[in-house]
Order: sequence, then C-alpha cells, then structure tokens
Amino acid sequence: MHWLHEAGLLTAVLPTSLGGMGLSEPAATLPLLQALYHIGRGNLVVGRLWEGHVNALLLLRRFGSPAQVARAAADARAGHLFGVWNTENPAEGVHLEAVLNTAGRYRLRGAKTFASGAGHISRPVLTGALPKQEGWQLVLLRADQQPPVLDRSFWRPLGMRATASFRADLTGLEVGPEDLVGQPNDYYLAPWFGGGAARFAAVQLGGAAAVLDETRRFLRRLGRTDDPYQRQRLGELLALHETGQLWLRGAAEHAALPATAPLEAWPAARQAATAAYGNGLRGVTEDICLQTLRLAERCVGARGLLQPEPFERLHRDLTHYLRQPAPDAALAESGRFALASDKPAYQLWQG
Ligand SMILES: Cc1cc2nc3c(=O)[nH]c(=O)nc-3n(C[C@H](O)[C@H](O)[C@H](O)COP(=O)(O)OP(=O)(O)OC[C@H]3O[C@@H](n4cnc5c(N)ncnc54)[C@H](O)[C@@H]3O)c2cc1C
Repeated sequence: MHWLHEAGLLTAVLPTSLGGMGLSEPAATLPLLQALYHIGRGNLVVGRLWEGHVNALLLLRRFGSPAQVARAAADARAGHLFGVWNTENPAEGVHLEAVLNTAGRYRLRGAKTFASGAGHISRPVLTGALPKQEGWQLVLLRADQQPPVLDRSFWRPLGMRATASFRADLTGLEVGPEDLVGQPNDYYLAPWFGGGAARFAAVQLGGAAAVLDETRRFLRRLGRTDDPYQRQRLGELLALHETGQLWLRGAAEHAALPATAPLEAWPAARQAATAAYGNGLRGVTEDICLQTLRLAERCVGARGLLQPEPFERLHRDLTHYLRQPAPDAALAESGRFALASDKPAYQLWQG
C-alpha cells in the first residue's frame, strides 16, 4: 500500500484539480479497469484493497458535499486508506441512533462483517440503517480517531487472508452531520451500484491472468511445451483470457458513451442496458476464472500445486475472491433484461 501511495495510486481517481489522475472520468474507465487488472495480476489481496479504496473515493466524489470531497482528497494525498464496509449479518447490522439534544449526531450500534483492511483502513465508508426506517445512510468513519472493536476470529478464510476482512463492531462510536455522505439510500442508486461489478471483475481477471502466466512459466521450465494436450489447454486458457479482456473493454465503452446528463439521470433504457452489461460481465468473469483454475490445475498437476509454487495461493485467493454477493441473482437479472426487450441481440446493449 506504501508503494501504491508512492506511485500516486491512492489519489488516482481524484480529479487533477485535487491532485489526482482523473481516473474517475467516464472516458478514463478503461485505464482504471486496466490498473485494477494489473494490480490484481500482481496480487489479488492488494487488488481487493485498492478496489475498495477506489470505490470509497468514487462514492464520496459522487455523493459527498464539496467540503467532504476536499477533505477526503487531502486525506488520500496524505496516505489514508479508504474502503467500503457494507456487508453485515442482519441479526447484528449497523444502526444509527440519534444522540439526544444534538443536531444530526448519531451513535452507531452493530457490526460489519468482511470489513477488509480492518485495523489499517483509517477512512471506511459504512452503511447503516437510519432511525424510523428512514433508509440506508452512507457514513464516513475516522477510524484512526474512533477505532472499531475488531474480531479477528471471524476471519479464518480459504484465501485472501491478508485482506484482514475482520468483523468490526462499531457500537458506541459517534458521527456528526459532516460525516453523513449523501441522502438515504444513495448507495444503491442505479447504475452506480451495479457498475462497481466491472471493477472487481477487472481485479479477478488479473488473478486469472497470473494463473495463466504461471502455468506457462511452469510448463516451459519443465520442458513440457510439445505435448498436444498441454498446447490445447493453453489455447483454451488464452481464449478465456481474451474473452474477459473484451468484456472489460465493452464495460469501459459503455461507461464512456457520451452522457448529456449525470449517470442517474440517464434514460431508463440506457441505465437498464448498463446494469445488464455489468451483471453479464460479472457472470462471464466468474466463469472464466473458474475454468482457468480447472485448466491450470490439469496443466501443472499435483506437483505444481505444492509450495513454493505459487498456484496453491493463487488458487485459494481467486476461489475465495470470486464469491461476491448473489451471483445467480445478478445473472438472472441480465436474463430478465434480455427477455423484456424486443430488440435483436446485436442491439440489446445499446439502451
Ligand atoms: C476477500 C473478501 C473481502 C471482502 N471485503 C468486503 C469489504 O471490504 N466490504 C464489504 O462490504 N464486503 C466485503 N466482502 C463481502 C462480499 O462483498 C460479499 O458480501 C460476500 O462475499 C458475499 O458472501 P456470500 O458468498 O456468502 O453471499 P451470498 O449472497 O449469501 O451468496 C451465497 C449463495 O447464496 C445464494 N443466495 C443469496 N441470497 C439467497 C437467498 N435469499 N436465498 C437462498 N440463496 C441465496 C447466492 O446466489 C449464492 O449462491 C468481502 C468478501 C471477500 C471474500
């Protein structure tokens, strides 16, 4: 994470006027997805953490007040790590309780699970339920000043261990009006929410690329490059990888289409097409990664799955990272979109 800071990547999605690289502009979606892919190719854990950092800054940029954005930019420039902690166990989810006799101050009650970077991330963006069912509020927590209580025993994972995705109990911490980001329920606004799928898919595809490259390296080192079955599998691996790259490029093209209005004011048809494309990309990427793992296992065999070869770690990390929420529902949503349209397949995505 220090290297990312030194390389200017902690501020990359900020506009140049705030010291960033402007990677949040729709036209810069491809470079952003490529950066996520390459960081994931290097290390999936770092990719996961950077993806969360980027997601938090994009949420703040989109929904935060100018003062909140300026403060977040200064914090990112100073090296603070951001993340988004949304997942929770419904029985102990986070609630915002009004503090009596104060204007807009809330006390938090409840815990988040899978709080990636817990103990390291000083600026997590959280979701919590407002009183009287007023909705779901985004909150920026200054976790260095008000640290949550971490339960490390929650995190005994198959892979991605170094993400430190602990359970974080926020009970008793307080936030003020300056920490509330946007309006209730902004977090789930389309197409912002679904659009995030392209970013984690890019990191996952980077993980699959690492598996492919390590498989090639392993076979070349063992002089196993003449075997027709190995060659056939390599051909399949390459085709899978290129399919993933093309979907990423497609997602970037969708985001970069000229927009005359902010994303949420797009015509409903275009929002639906963009969301369906994101859901399709998620499903395709999951499939590509799973098939890549299966083919690579066969290529390298049992010996290749022993340490110090990198496959066992890559395998565990990618397998676990692929588990994102409700994968079937996302793909079914894409199918529902297709079934509701009269357009021929080649025009479906045009919205
Ligand atoms: C390494 C890692 C880091 C993470 N970091 C963060 C983080 O920083 N912040 C954060 O907010 N989250 C984080 N998460 C959590 C992540 O975003 C997902 O919420 C979580 O991985 C989803 O868990 P799940 O697979 O159990 O989901 P589920 O959605 O429960 O899916 C499991 C299966 O159940 C099915 N299913 C879903 N709903 C139902 C239902 N109602 N009835 C029947 N079946 C159903 C799904 O289709 C799927 O087949 C992280 C996860 C991982 C693995």
